[in-house]
Amino acid sequence: MRKLTPMIDTHAHIDFPDFDSDREDVIRNAFDTGLKAIINIGVDRESSIRSVELADSNDRIFAAVGFHPHDSKKFDKPSKEQIARLAQHPKVVAIGEIGLDYYRDHSPHDVQQQVFAEQIAMAREFGMPIVVHVREAMTDALDILRREKVHEIGGVLHCFPGTPDDAQAAADMNMLVAFGGSLTFKNSRSIPAAKAITLDNIILETDCPFITPVPFRGKRNQPSYVRYAYSALAEIRDIPLETIEKTVDENAIRLFNLGDGAI
Ligand SMILES: [Zn+2]
Ligand SMILES: [Zn+2]
Repeated sequence: MRKLTPMIDTHAHIDFPDFDSDREDVIRNAFDTGLKAIINIGVDRESSIRSVELADSNDRIFAAVGFHPHDSKKFDKPSKEQIARLAQHPKVVAIGEIGLDYYRDHSPHDVQQQVFAEQIAMAREFGMPIVVHVREAMTDALDILRREKVHEIGGVLHCFPGTPDDAQAAADMNMLVAFGGSLTFKNSRSIPAAKAITLDNIILETDCPFITPVPFRGKRNQPSYVRYAYSALAEIRDIPLETIEKTVDENAIRLFNLGDGAI
């Protein structure tokens, strides 16, 4: 059997209630099966606090803090101050997830745009990269990223939903794109971009508990399943898995500044 080599789940939500009954087992299983690190991503005030607590509890868990576009209407002054405080914790490696989601439309578009821009500004203030969620809003998102000078801090468009041209536009702004379980789906919309963009611009993720890869469709996703995204990318690009692991992990370590023996 092939020796397990390290991989990184750059986008997990293991603070979500879906993991309340077995969170410790899920974390142990992820590291036992070869993961090097997990980045847990906040979506609002409470989950950002829980992300930092998780990061505090384990050397190999890191956190991102921020307000998801769904919750942007709740981004008031106390919330902003709280996120700014949390961002200074040593295990916080990014502001996120932030962005625009016109598909679910849980918050008005103008509020989403305003809160997205404000959080990019906050990331710039702290010199941190951003984790960006975009759904049915790519043009507006790229405009805001450009206007807010994302190239100065870098970031990632997670669960990348765009075309190869969108991926290149992101790369031109010093942004990576992240793919997950959807790479294992037949005819996935993300495959053309995953094929086209330079490997140096790609990182991988689970977005667990969502977007469970084949062969576990219908079950809860978890960080250890990130390996299915790695092997799917190896197959799509026709590159050995070892090369994918090495390059993609280096990209994540560089983006989130996980070096200096942190992992
Ligand atoms: Zn997302
Ligand atoms: Zn997410």
